[in-house]
Amino acid sequence: MFAPLPQELDLWRAVRLGAAFAGSATLAQLPRLAAAVVGADGPARYTLAFERDAARQAVALGQVAMDLRLRCERCMGEVGLSLELPIALALVHAASDSDRLGLDQVPAVADQYEALPVGDEPINPLNLIEDELLLALPLAPIHEVGECQAALPPDPTDSTQAGALDEKKNPFAVLAALKSKG
Ligand SMILES: [Zn+2]
Repeated sequence: MFAPLPQELDLWRAVRLGAAFAGSATLAQLPRLAAAVVGADGPARYTLAFERDAARQAVALGQVAMDLRLRCERCMGEVGLSLELPIALALVHAASDSDRLGLDQVPAVADQYEALPVGDEPINPLNLIEDELLLALPLAPIHEVGECQAALPPDPTDSTQAGALDEKKNPFAVLAALKSKG
């Protein structure tokens, strides 16, 4: 089995070693994400493998899944969001590769991967997982049509609206009534 991500990781070394990780992280371990959501149903589950691809590009490949609860912008109720995201990062040397890379190489990296500037210092690799989840959050989360509290009639005691809804809900009762008459 793969080990969970460590607190600190030298990403270049991880590529050299072909290191692969799998594990889970609670919302409390992802404080930037925790600040952006209402809550989570269970931890984030992730896999992340460091390697060189066929073109010798240093990459980090994996996936992350998490069930989050957000605040609906329309009714202020909770709205669930199940994320299952692929991770495909191309490691580039921070503040050097962007200048050094030939023009022919840059589009290939951009097509397949998201560029990840990496310095020489080890980083907390959970930040990569957290970034993927943060980037996938909708700017203005709202419920699906029919699930949003704000979509209900503004006045539920309004008899004309309630009557209209009842007829729509139960057309077969009307048919049955007609048939039994005839
Ligand atoms: Zn809503």
